[in-house]
Amino acid sequence: MKIGVLGAGQLGRMLALAGLPLEMSFIFYDTSGAPSVGLGEVIVDKGGSGSELDDFLQQVDIVTYEFEHLPLELTKAIENKKPLHPSSESIRVCQNRTKEKALFKELGIPTAEYRVVNSAKELKSAAEELGCPVVAKSVTEGYDGKGQAVLRDSAEAEAAWTSINHNSLIVESFVDFSRELSIIAARSTSGEVAFYPLAENSHHEGILRYSIAPAPKVLEPIQQQAQEYIKALLNELNHVGILTLELFETTNGLLANEMAPRVHNSGHWSIEGAASSQFENHLRAITGLPLGDTQANKPTCMINIIAEKGNKEAILKLPYAHLHLYGKSERKGRKLGHVTVQADSYEELVWRVKNVASFLPGSPDFISSLTSSKK
Ligand code: AMP
Repeated sequence: MKIGVLGAGQLGRMLALAGLPLEMSFIFYDTSGAPSVGLGEVIVDKGGSGSELDDFLQQVDIVTYEFEHLPLELTKAIENKKPLHPSSESIRVCQNRTKEKALFKELGIPTAEYRVVNSAKELKSAAEELGCPVVAKSVTEGYDGKGQAVLRDSAEAEAAWTSINHNSLIVESFVDFSRELSIIAARSTSGEVAFYPLAENSHHEGILRYSIAPAPKVLEPIQQQAQEYIKALLNELNHVGILTLELFETTNGLLANEMAPRVHNSGHWSIEGAASSQFENHLRAITGLPLGDTQANKPTCMINIIAEKGNKEAILKLPYAHLHLYGKSERKGRKLGHVTVQADSYEELVWRVKNVASFLPGSPDFISSLTSSKK
């Protein structure tokens, strides 16, 4: 089975690492001009014009992707030639915050209150109506906290509009969450569904830094609720592959933030932390194989390596740490790798995570429900 992947970064790399033992081979289609995948065959379409696409499609049995901000027309054209999983419908909804929020609403999945605005003036009115603080986000293309601004006062509308620089924004009430969670699920071509346990995520400057799985202190009804939400989305979209749903935990229950139709940074823990990783289950799902076990085998935490690779030797000496480097050069804000840390208890996990983080310069303090009084 030859898998074509749109994109050639670390997610594609980890997909291939999971697929090789299943006798899958991989061809990557890169439009960035700087593929970092480092394995498989890479077709580079430097201008992103699609000029090499036919060559790519001729060679593959099935197409998937590592990034949902793809031109919709392109994905529809691909679909006419080869199976594309998840489909262009999943891309259409997940790449547009307005469509995503409308679907949450339609399915009865609660979200922060929001408005869609098309000018600085409308942004100001929406901020007044919702009550500050509010979060303004570009409707399309946002990721890792890019294309966003928090308005503490409606008088900041003009400046926020200019800084985001998009012609359509979503404005949301600021959610007073106790923590951020995500649920990852796989749905196969046969309709089989499998759920990973909720992960607890902490961000710094808009970038994910730590994911703990299973998220500590999650009551069973919360896990069930998250599963019901993502299952409704999977079925409605007729989604095939991994889907990730990011959630806020509040005193009134879960609120959906956003979703991604792909393997996700908050699921990297599953490479060592579950019998079948999110990468393997994505591949199983899109090729119609039975899904693998998604349970966590131990308390696990993923630490992102951002900007600087840190002390590789020191991390490699630790018996409980697994180092993953993505073959990328150091640069401010860039995801260069991650470390998976496992322990027999959450108490031990905290100590181990802090130890690993001490070898990663620039790592923010490890703040989580395990380390603060906040649940
Ligand atoms: P997003 O790109 O929507 O995932 O937003 C990036 C990060 O901004 C989230 O992970 C939250 O930490 C924060 N954030 C986004 N929306 C809100 C909101 N409505 N209220 C509070 N924090 C938010």
